[in-house]
Amino acid sequence: ELLQSPLHLQPVPSQPLPPDLYGPLRRNSAGLDLAMPDLRAPLEQAAAQVTVPAVPEADPARIAEAVARSRTACPGWSRAPVEQRAGMLRRAADAMEERMAPLCALLVKEAAKTWGDCVAEVREAVDFLRYYAGEAERILQPVTLPGPTGESNTLRLTARGPWVCISPWNFPLAIFTGQVAAALATGNTVLAKPAEQTPAIALEAVKLLHAAGVPPDVLQLLHGPGETVGAALVADPRIAGVVFTGSTQVAKIIQRALAAKDGPIVPLIAETGGINAMLVDSTALPEQVADAVVQSAFRSAGQRCSALRLLCVHEAIADGVIAMIQGAARELVTGDPAQWATDVGPVIDDEAFEGLQKHLRRLHAEARPLLPPGEAAPASRLIPPQAFELSDIAEVKQEIFGPVLHVVRWRGDPLQVIEAINVLGYGLTLGIQTRIDSRSLALADSAHIGNVYVNRNMIGAVVGVQPFGGEGLSGTGPKAGGPHYLYRFCAEQTVTINTTAAGG
Ligand code: NAD
Repeated sequence: ELLQSPLHLQPVPSQPLPPDLYGPLRRNSAGLDLAMPDLRAPLEQAAAQVTVPAVPEADPARIAEAVARSRTACPGWSRAPVEQRAGMLRRAADAMEERMAPLCALLVKEAAKTWGDCVAEVREAVDFLRYYAGEAERILQPVTLPGPTGESNTLRLTARGPWVCISPWNFPLAIFTGQVAAALATGNTVLAKPAEQTPAIALEAVKLLHAAGVPPDVLQLLHGPGETVGAALVADPRIAGVVFTGSTQVAKIIQRALAAKDGPIVPLIAETGGINAMLVDSTALPEQVADAVVQSAFRSAGQRCSALRLLCVHEAIADGVIAMIQGAARELVTGDPAQWATDVGPVIDDEAFEGLQKHLRRLHAEARPLLPPGEAAPASRLIPPQAFELSDIAEVKQEIFGPVLHVVRWRGDPLQVIEAINVLGYGLTLGIQTRIDSRSLALADSAHIGNVYVNRNMIGAVVGVQPFGGEGLSGTGPKAGGPHYLYRFCAEQTVTINTTAAGG
């Protein structure tokens, strides 16, 4: 029953986004304005009031004490009825929904996200809380297995112990909340280490969970750099699991650290980066392609793990598609994320800005620029959308985390294009644009890629609808926001009872 339970993907529990919010990026600001006139005033009011508080860094003594408390708290938490834990997550979801405006205002200030992205992010966090509450109630029921007469066999899922949750800055509320909610729902305790760029929004989420009834020792927040605080948590012999979202490079550091320490084999769930491609064949509709490309590559200033990095367009329609992308990109407003009209906000910090500038200098020297360079503004960390034509897919060697698109023309067999994309080693998202229905599934079959989007943009990761996660260099799975995710947080136990024996 456990393994055969139907894979119902639950509908998105919270209100769907107004269609205009996820409409073409160039209509984003107006879309948000028109679709949510009741939200603009509270958002702006909250923005005027919000300040980003400083947070204390955890030192080694605090980390050691936190792990000890986490272990002590685990048995009581895991033995509580799942409905009780789920109830707390649902209460936190309601509170988060009520606090939409101040949370968005904090996100704009701390993470420099645009208003549209902030609203979507708070909703995603709410969805994670409600979805994992329901999923825990579904999967944590013991399953009776068939067996010989005189014996009863039960399979049940149990908590593992303290989980270390390490999250990135680019979805500092949604991914943080999702990881924490999954571990808590399944009866584990949590040591959460948010990205050092975005500690304040994580603190707000933790406050809401504590207020909803989660005891302080069950959910503890530890701030500080990944290299020290994150690494110390990972290295602690008393932890039971690590869930990590961030770069491939850091996932590998964590994997090595876990393997190197004495003690039990500790599970690692890693969701990492991608060199995400879109394959466009000669039958595709150029306007649809251009719209999908502009949204997928430049939305959120390209700072999404799912963002399009590599457009592989058939040579027969390449010129037309490129011209349309140029037209659409020109309409995007790059600027202050707190301004209602902004489509493309700043990159996260000076280090990211410098890294992107270096990459752009190399591309300007080696490739054909397709968009005007615009004015890079170090003080405001703004980089207008950029696109470059390259001659070969293999020239794209690493994930570039910003509004930068690489374009390659192809001819011949589309399966060979998929093969070349597979060779890059990442497997997060793939877009396919074609009017030949049978082709899209055949191409998806050959792609070693976790999330495939046909004839649409590559912005997905909808909780309960499009579970998200990659393979290869892009992560270990299982997919977040999907029906298999919570199993990995649990240990499995069988209980076999001889029912003919005394007391059986
Ligand atoms: P990052 O790898 O630099 O940092 C992620 C987290 O790891 C941070 O909290 C950081 O403090 C911590 N960390 C760093 N070094 C550590 C160490 N040695 N030990 C333990 N923890 C350590 O990533 P980032 O810059 O915050 O985020 C951007 C990256 O995240 C991109 O590569 C993006 O593709 C990826 N990402 C992936 C997904 C996904 O679902 N696949 C989602 C969002 C972001």
